[in-house]
Amino acid sequence: MSNTAAKTVTLVQPDSARPIIKATCVDKHFGAFHALKSVSANFYEGQVTAIIGPSGSGKSTFLRTLNRLETHDSGTIEVDGIELNDDLKNLDAIRREVGMVFQSFNLFSHLSILQNVTLAPMRVRKMPKAQAEAKALALLERVGLKNQAHKYPVQLSGGQQQRVAIARALAMDPKVLLFDEPTSALDPEMVNEVLAVMRELAHTGITMLVVTHEMGFAREVADRVIFFDHGVILEDTTPAEFFANPTHERAKAFLSQVR
Ligand code: ADP
Ligand code: MG
Repeated sequence: MSNTAAKTVTLVQPDSARPIIKATCVDKHFGAFHALKSVSANFYEGQVTAIIGPSGSGKSTFLRTLNRLETHDSGTIEVDGIELNDDLKNLDAIRREVGMVFQSFNLFSHLSILQNVTLAPMRVRKMPKAQAEAKALALLERVGLKNQAHKYPVQLSGGQQQRVAIARALAMDPKVLLFDEPTSALDPEMVNEVLAVMRELAHTGITMLVVTHEMGFAREVADRVIFFDHGVILEDTTPAEFFANPTHERAKAFLSQVR
């Protein structure tokens, strides 16, 4: 057991990179339910991590503690050297560095696509409107939606809305992007257009943590796979190692169901 742990640490810790996220002994309860049990993991700049595991294993909770959509009970979380705690100044600084893309898109329905993407840069970063719009249009072009800028979310397909959500997150120039099952709410024919955008992003050097059931993405795009089960990280290794030799029975069982 300890041998395995020592090996996986070296595999997932690039020598040159520094951790942009350090989670150490993070615990989270919902009432009496222990959702995260002393979870520790460092994430390195430019690394793409696929977080997988059964439903209810704590994947979303872990991701949400990293930008304080959930508070953790104990342990420490640091993002780019800033501790995530009750200090609102720290939270503000961290939220500027960490973007999130949700399963259900969460676009503002009363705002146009362009306004969805310009809102945070204008409000939070005080970016002038013309500059925010130019940037938004460039990002929308990158996700293939420049010609939809003046439409409203309801006029777009799910896959298009999710690509807008990615552009919106990128508009704040985050160092880290958290994705919580970004393709799970999509019709099958729209999954690939979103994965293609994520694949392109993965090559830009942004740090990505992706909760996903897309094993193809985990295998081909991720640098690292973390397998959650019952609130603990059971496996933390390279995709090649994880898919070829899952160590734990629970991981083997999970893989036999999703493959
Ligand atoms: P996953 O994303 O791996 O499916 P979650 O992190 O969403 O799992 O949930 C882990 C466990 O914590 C589940 O049993 C879930 O029911 C519970 N849980 C999550 N959020 C809450 C909440 N706000 N209140 C109570 N229980 C919750
Ligand atoms: Mg979840």
